[in-house]
Amino acid sequence: MTDHLTARRTHGFTESVIRAMTRLATEHGAINLAQGFPNFPAPEVVKEAARRAIADDVNQYAITWGARRLRVALAAKYATWYGMDVDPEREITVTCGATEAMASVLLATVDPGDEVIVLEPYYENYGPDAVLCGAQPVFVPLAPAGPIDLDRLAAAFSPRTRAIIVNTPNNPTGRVLSSDELAAIAALCRRFDALAITDEIYEHIVYEGTHRPLATFPEMRERTVTVSGASKTFSVTGWRVGTIVAPAALTDAVRKVHDFLTVGAPAPLQEGVAAGLEQLGPAFYHELAASYRRRRDLLVGGLQAAGFACAPPQGAYYVLADFSALSEEADDAFARRLTAEVGVAPVPGSSFYSRPELGRRLVRFAFCKTDDVLHEAVTRLGALRARLGTDRRPSPS
Ligand code: PLP
Repeated sequence: MTDHLTARRTHGFTESVIRAMTRLATEHGAINLAQGFPNFPAPEVVKEAARRAIADDVNQYAITWGARRLRVALAAKYATWYGMDVDPEREITVTCGATEAMASVLLATVDPGDEVIVLEPYYENYGPDAVLCGAQPVFVPLAPAGPIDLDRLAAAFSPRTRAIIVNTPNNPTGRVLSSDELAAIAALCRRFDALAITDEIYEHIVYEGTHRPLATFPEMRERTVTVSGASKTFSVTGWRVGTIVAPAALTDAVRKVHDFLTVGAPAPLQEGVAAGLEQLGPAFYHELAASYRRRRDLLVGGLQAAGFACAPPQGAYYVLADFSALSEEADDAFARRLTAEVGVAPVPGSSFYSRPELGRRLVRFAFCKTDDVLHEAVTRLGALRARLGTDRRPSPS
């Protein structure tokens, strides 16, 4: 093949390890705690509104930046929840998931060679997103337990910094950044005239503290792009409805990229998400967090009993677990063996790091599953030492 016939832009990409683990789980009939999608139903009001939209022939392209009803519902949500004044006409864009939102925002705002700060471990899509727009990622550690090293963060900023990506509640660590951490990030963004691009897809899945958008910190509204979406809040990851709130000038740029990438998000499903935002009240959001807390406690207890070292996450629906006490294998080999021999699929930790060696002792489990599935996973993990023959506890003398 000549050089002209090879792909160029994807140099430096690997395939998604998360999606590959889903395929492996299917192949082995394993419980899939790898990819973060719920196995329980979406809220009835959300589904009913989407069904009605299809019955009413809402079949054609929605407005490129989102159906007006959904943008108005989003503006009301940001006002009610966070006291943010958002113009639905000029400051909101609806995309095909937070995934497209993040890619569109980066492509619209970052020039090749610009530096973008990423806290790591990080959601694996940010790596390829940076490659696609030619950004130079600068990684700063984010420990699953314990505060961000703010000196190290400050040292990562420079006049070349175009943006920082801030994902809280965080995948994969489960960290919810504190007000002090967010205030420090905001101060650095102001000092270096950098953008904050936030990924707040888990904003309603918080167990400790409360979620506060970075855009609500002083002078941050004008330099923050807030990404979120319906996937996790309404348990509809396959609907592909994401959202962006940004100042008008940035929104103009983002909408152009979004338009040429996808034209728009699915029209009838936007109606479903709008109905959810309009009709679901505090009880729904309270129950969402409470049920995830129950699932978290179930899985974390089971993992600790099975020999993993892990701290309960403060938000989102993942546990990053150290398996050093169970095996000396590398994370990818251990994850494959757990899938094939124990019947529970996690994600290898290295896929969340810029340097694989940083995640070699870690695997990530998702707990967005019904209690029966989690109970069965915990039972299987309980038999792990015997199944793997890797009991590394000292034998009694
Ligand atoms: N951002 C984070 C941090 C995620 O964990 C995920 C999914 O796991 C996404 C974005 C994807 O969101 P969406 O389904 O809206 O594309």
